[in-house]
Amino acid sequence: MWLLLLFVCMSTVGGVPINAAHDATSAPGRLPLNDTRNVTSPASVIDLLQQASAETLEELHEDLVVQEGDILIPEERNAVETLWAEAIVPYTISYELADRESNILAAFKMISDFTCVRFQKRTTELNYLKFLNSRGCASFVGCRGGAQPLYYGRSCSVGNLCHEIIHSLGLHHEHTRKDRDQYITVQWTSITPGNKKNFKMKGGNTLNLPYDLSSIMHYGQYFFSKDGSPTLLPKQRGEQMGQRTHLSLLDIQRLNKLYHCDERMKSL
Ligand SMILES: [Zn+2]
Repeated sequence: MWLLLLFVCMSTVGGVPINAAHDATSAPGRLPLNDTRNVTSPASVIDLLQQASAETLEELHEDLVVQEGDILIPEERNAVETLWAEAIVPYTISYELADRESNILAAFKMISDFTCVRFQKRTTELNYLKFLNSRGCASFVGCRGGAQPLYYGRSCSVGNLCHEIIHSLGLHHEHTRKDRDQYITVQWTSITPGNKKNFKMKGGNTLNLPYDLSSIMHYGQYFFSKDGSPTLLPKQRGEQMGQRTHLSLLDIQRLNKLYHCDERMKSL
């Protein structure tokens, strides 16, 4: 049944990240007022640490394992990554999330304002995103077929949630790209034991787009730090990473390329 459902999804080419805006007033490429790119104060560091902890799922679900803190992978590791057919993502929201529905809609808007990806309430579709309450946030990468859980905990901001939704659209973490060592240095000794695997490089399609430190899919400087010291350092001084307020321009380009938005717009 699972395999059968996968057929309904379009096959894709793997992934890399993209970014959007936190609210209707934030344009891509413009810094919102609450942007954390010029972070120096301890309070801001705490914020960044909290962002990282929100994107984790401590509880392991039956037959699932968690990778890089918030990426769910099924036992069957070689499943082909897939795109959502016609760039439309049907969804349902658990009754437990009723008071956070507006946050979910705001996260959708961060994506749909700048791409051709659309979200619509499920009617009879076989493949759909199922928003569930949880202690943290986590998602599969790409459309996996059937009722696909996306876990949304109270600790997650709208930006964290948008990050998870982008995973479900097919994009991985930016810092795991093969070319990342040209742009960042991983401080392996600062990473909490057990989480070093979250920083492993991966193959995957970069869609011929440049590395993007400002991606909403990039880890921040202190993610998974064991003692508050940076786990990632940008090679270029002053660059900030780990924002969760908007899609970067490259995030937008990546999603539009992945979902062939140009061709879709032309055919309208
Ligand atoms: Zn993630």
